[in-house]
Amino acid sequence: MSLTEITARIAQAESAAKRPAGSVKLIAVSKEQPPERVLPVLEAGHRLFGENRVQEAAGKWPDWRQDFTDVELHLLGPLQTNKARQAMELFQAIHSLDRPKLARTFARLAQELGHCPRLFVQVNTGAEPQKAGVLPDDADSLIAEARAMDLPVIGLMCIPPLDEDAVAHFSLLAQVAARNGLDELSMGMSDDFETAIAEGATYIRVGSAIFGARR
Ligand SMILES: *Cc1c(COP(=O)(O)O)cnc(C)c1O
Repeated sequence: MSLTEITARIAQAESAAKRPAGSVKLIAVSKEQPPERVLPVLEAGHRLFGENRVQEAAGKWPDWRQDFTDVELHLLGPLQTNKARQAMELFQAIHSLDRPKLARTFARLAQELGHCPRLFVQVNTGAEPQKAGVLPDDADSLIAEARAMDLPVIGLMCIPPLDEDAVAHFSLLAQVAARNGLDELSMGMSDDFETAIAEGATYIRVGSAIFGARR
């Protein structure tokens, strides 16, 4: 599917949900995609991209940014504290804040670097043992802790369990955000972004529907 088609489907979903046009931002997830698929999307003028791994992003985006200086890069995948500095230098937003130790590391490095990317707290809405994210019951306290450190927490992120209806997970995330006064919801991927928009997503993360299946 082309970027134009995805953009049209987003506009349609916004309108069906009676939400203002342009209230949903499209993060084009370029992880594991070859340059010949990513460059046309850059050349078409898209500037918001998502990556899963710090190392992979560090290997390709500095070059591309020479030509496309206004790219905004979001980290979507889990982050180890020993990669936090590199991530804070490379990304404008990080969607995977999920534990106090990582919050403390961000706070310390923010002092040192003089800036901090915007942060999303990742919530493990399905309480899946193998999945990253803070448990829903622990989300409020992690958000409060991060705020007490002056970290720029702007919203929440989730990845619903594969085998479940996503609606309940999106709506739980929206509830946790509302009771914490957070405006941004990062939810919805290639297969369910229209559902996520109906449930209030402000950032959707779409990879394979734009670029094709990953190798
Ligand atoms: C890979 C990935 C996506 C994009 O997945 P698609 O199904 O290709 O749209 C979105 N969010 C996260 C966190 C991912 O790791």
